[in-house]
Formats: sequence, C-alpha cells, structure tokens
Amino acid sequence: MTGLIDFCKNNNIRFLKEALLKDYLTFRVGGPCRLMVFPDTADKTVSLLKYVNDNNIRYFIIGKGSNLLCRDDGFDGVIINTSDFESADIRGDRIICSSGISLMKVCRAALDNSLTGLECEYGIPGSVGGAVFMNAGAYGGEIRDIVSSVTHITHGGKIETLLSDKLDFGYRHSFYSDNDCFIISAEFKLSEGNFSEIKAKMDDLLSRRKEKQPLDLPSAGSTFKRPEGYYAGALIEECDLKGYTIGGAQVSEKHAGFIVNKSNATCADICNLIEHCRETVYKQTGIMLEPEVRFIT
Ligand SMILES: Cc1cc2nc3c(=O)[nH]c(=O)nc-3n(C[C@H](O)[C@H](O)[C@H](O)COP(=O)(O)OP(=O)(O)OC[C@H]3O[C@@H](n4cnc5c(N)ncnc54)[C@H](O)[C@@H]3O)c2cc1C
Repeated sequence: MTGLIDFCKNNNIRFLKEALLKDYLTFRVGGPCRLMVFPDTADKTVSLLKYVNDNNIRYFIIGKGSNLLCRDDGFDGVIINTSDFESADIRGDRIICSSGISLMKVCRAALDNSLTGLECEYGIPGSVGGAVFMNAGAYGGEIRDIVSSVTHITHGGKIETLLSDKLDFGYRHSFYSDNDCFIISAEFKLSEGNFSEIKAKMDDLLSRRKEKQPLDLPSAGSTFKRPEGYYAGALIEECDLKGYTIGGAQVSEKHAGFIVNKSNATCADICNLIEHCRETVYKQTGIMLEPEVRFIT
C-alpha cells in the first residue's frame, strides 16, 4: 500500500490506515481494511480509480455503510469512502446532490424549501449514492420516482451522465447493481409543495418507523428482500424465529425482518443467523429468502 499512500499524499486525498470497518457500518461489525480513502472531487476519484485498477488493487465503495456487512477479519483491500462528497445544490424544483451526502439531510433541505417528492425517503439512513445504488424506498415510494439523472465514473475512468430511463431501476436494483461505477452525484426532480403537509407526512412516516423498527440496536435495516407476494418479516415470525439468537446476533424481537446486533455480534454470528433463517423459512414454506444486505468482498 506504500505506493497508494504516496499517491494519496501527492494528490491531496485523505486516507486512514487499517481503519476498522465496524466503525463505518451501521451493523457495527467488520475488521480492518488495508486503507480507507476519502476522495472529495470527481477528478481525484478518476485518478484514484485509474491507480487502483492499473495496480490491480482490490477496492470497495461505501456510502454510510447502512446496508453492508464486512467479515470479522476485515477486507484485504482499499475502501473508497464517499463521505467527503457532501454538497446539495437547490435549483428551483431540482436538487443536485453529491453522492456522499446523507439522504436525510437532502430530505430536510427539500422540506426547508417546501419541495415535495422525498417524503417516503425520510428516515432511510444512508447516502444519496447508496440510495441510488439500492433504489432505496419505503411506504410506497422509491428513489427512482424522483431521480432525473445520475453522474458516475465508469470502470474505465470516463465521467458520464445517465438519464433516469437508462438507470434500470427495479426493486432494490439499479444500473449500478450490474455495472462497476463510482456514483458522483444525482439530480432529483421534485415539485413545489406545502411546507406543513410535507412536514406532517415526514413526521408521520418517521414515527411509524420508530414504532415498528428496532432503531435502538445496530442493524442494516431489513435483512432480506421482500419475496413476491409475502413479507420476509412475517414469514420469519411464522417460523417462530422472532428473538432467535446466535451469539450476539438476534432476529429482532420488535420486527422479525431485522437481524440486530444485540451484544457484540460478530459477522459470523450474523451470517449464521441469516443462513438459519433462510433454511428454516425454506423448509417450512418453500420460499427462499434473498439477503438485501450486501457483503464487502
Ligand atoms: C435502521 C435502518 C432502516 C432502513 N430502512 C430502509 C428502508 O426503509 N428502505 C430501504 O430501501 N433501505 C433501508 N435501509 C437500508 C439502507 O439504509 C439503504 O440501502 C441505503 O440506501 C444504503 O445507503 P448507504 O449510503 O448506507 O450505502 P452503503 O450501505 O454504504 O452501500 C450500499 C451499496 O451501495 C454502493 N454504493 C454506495 N455509494 C456508492 C457510490 N457513490 N458509488 C457506487 N456505489 C455506491 C456500495 O458499494 C454498496 O454496494 C435501512 C437501514 C437501516 C440501518
């Protein structure tokens, strides 16, 4: 990594050696990476990606780490952390957001400007880049409903902008699920609305989350995707797995769709519990649950 460290110093890119992933993932598990780097401009990221690709260095991009798991022995490569891409620029009814900014901050900016369209996203942790990657959504809305375009860096180092219809959005799926790119920014198209109505909807959805979800314990949100026609949490509950524990990991007693880090869980505890839920639900219902949580590999 000495070469990459010199590269970062020469290009004024912030970095941390051996950063512990558990400090960057909402599940609070994961060992060290070799280097964590924090580029803050598109140009620096283009050069960084060229450097790591030319030198065959493994890398993984993270936003706010709210949908990720990392092994206990860590990641033998470079984590590219987007948190220094932090701006949001409001132009009329559009917001141009850098990928690392938190979605919650953008929702609040929309509210402050009486712009409607982001209410359903209010309460989803994570960054704009992560929300676009995952097509994050809740309560009947998804990020695709308001994305007008996304600008990214391709694997080959080209900066491109794709309009929404080319972003291949589906349930927890986007163009980025199948294409190795670094998302730089996204443009959201909102509409003029009424401040009090937007606020009331946001407050309502947030209080529903607080009531139903185990927000007091570390997790990555819903562990599994929703199988067509069912709810993962309901299936897990039907199989009597609510509260089921392996090591420090537990199927939440509050919402069976969440696996939580109850007490110093390891990644192995969580993975074993994920597998146990999948096997049990499959045996009892014939439905195979697919994880929504992604792995840093
Ligand atoms: C309590 C809780 C509640 C949640 N509720 C919801 C919910 O209601 N709806 C929902 O959809 N999700 C929910 N989630 C899951 C999670 O918040 C979302 O998936 C979120 O959009 C992930 O954003 P992130 O920045 O944390 O991405 P990360 O977890 O850091 O990354 C997710 C994926 O995106 C990729 N990625 C991130 N940024 C970039 C970038 N700039 N360029 C390229 N790739 C990138 C990563 O490589 C990774 O594959 C919840 C999570 C928690 C902890």
